[in-house]
Amino acid sequence: MRLVTNQLPKTIVYGTGSFQQVGIEARKVGTKALLISDQIMKSLGNVDRAGELLEESGVYWHEYLGVETEPKDIYVDEALTVLQQYSCDHIIALGGGSCIDTAKAVAVLATNGGKISDYMNNGKIAEKNPLPLIAIPTTGGTGSEATDVTVVTNTANAVKMMIKQEAFIPQKAIVDPVLTVSSPPHITAATGMDALTHALEAYISKKAHPFTDMLALSALERIYRHIETAYHDGENLQARHELIYGSMLAGMAFSNASVCLVHGMSRPIGALFDVPHGVSNAMLLPVILKYTKESCRDRLAEIARVLMPERRGDSVLELSDALVENIVSLCARLDIPTLRQWGIDEELYASQLEKMAGDALESGSPQNNPKVPGKAEIIRLYEE
Ligand code: NAD
Repeated sequence: MRLVTNQLPKTIVYGTGSFQQVGIEARKVGTKALLISDQIMKSLGNVDRAGELLEESGVYWHEYLGVETEPKDIYVDEALTVLQQYSCDHIIALGGGSCIDTAKAVAVLATNGGKISDYMNNGKIAEKNPLPLIAIPTTGGTGSEATDVTVVTNTANAVKMMIKQEAFIPQKAIVDPVLTVSSPPHITAATGMDALTHALEAYISKKAHPFTDMLALSALERIYRHIETAYHDGENLQARHELIYGSMLAGMAFSNASVCLVHGMSRPIGALFDVPHGVSNAMLLPVILKYTKESCRDRLAEIARVLMPERRGDSVLELSDALVENIVSLCARLDIPTLRQWGIDEELYASQLEKMAGDALESGSPQNNPKVPGKAEIIRLYEE
């Protein structure tokens, strides 16, 4: 067995109603919080509720609500300014991956300095502990509450930076399925497919190992079985629980085993065309699974035996083909749009393929794929 290092948050408070613990958990790490969230969380009443809970526990708080989807470096800079202005001693991220990733970057910059782009490709390593961060996800989802990754767009060169260092793991996560009930169907579908892709890529990754396999298989089973119920019946708390629990496990899996080609190719689409991350992943998944499957049929068959136990006796060839077909049809049943349906201009898309393929390769994720493509092959896959 090769040497592996597994990293997870220090504390995870999980369960229905766990959001109520935010004040108690915050008081353990500081007295003045910066709450990083967005306008949708504000309109849903979640920001004010968090504020009340903090005050009940004797924690002062300030807010930064400027985060928008696919977060940009400017939100990080703005939030850091608020943090410094009020001398906040810890951070609470409340929202989807966009709010959590912004908060992770602020927590690291607050103690280690520099700009977030400095940390790209380990150009700068965060050597000091970040400010304590409590991540509270509201999508099920990125699993960012349990990963060592932040994804922030560099507005200077339109690159969606995937930055991976130990310092980006939140100190605490509070994971409450109730917070995801308000997520509308299209966001439930996109974020759920993002989580499924994390688990699948972690399982077929060249860096997978037994600990991440266990997490990825459990995540795949939960998400695959319950995503359609959550999509059609958002109030179904059992389905919401399975999705957010599955997304957290998937986050732990890929944080320690890495993602592969789908994620590598998905980020440039998000950065250049503002396609939400879960949607661009799901758009690419069918094409890339078909491209990759010859190189990992055994691993795909192992997943298929868990997701389709009634077909356990089938051959590896049949099982791996069936899994790919089922995932493709799942994307269709969840109404995941194609690039064309999303309204991307075809000429503009074609003109960006060279840059997209270069950015995908530079992220390092394609190199974890069971079959590693060169630049020309990535361009061909984008065209497909
Ligand atoms: P998001 O955070 O961008 O949220 C999408 C939209 O849904 C936003 O408008 C948000 O306000 C809204 N929303 C969130 N929760 C809601 C709820 N409960 N009810 C109603 N509306 C709600 O989406 P996301 O998919 O969670 O995060 C995407 C970002 O995370 C991307 O930038 C992606 O690259 C990144 N990401 C990070 C990691 C990581 O490990 N750090 C992993 C995967 C993806």
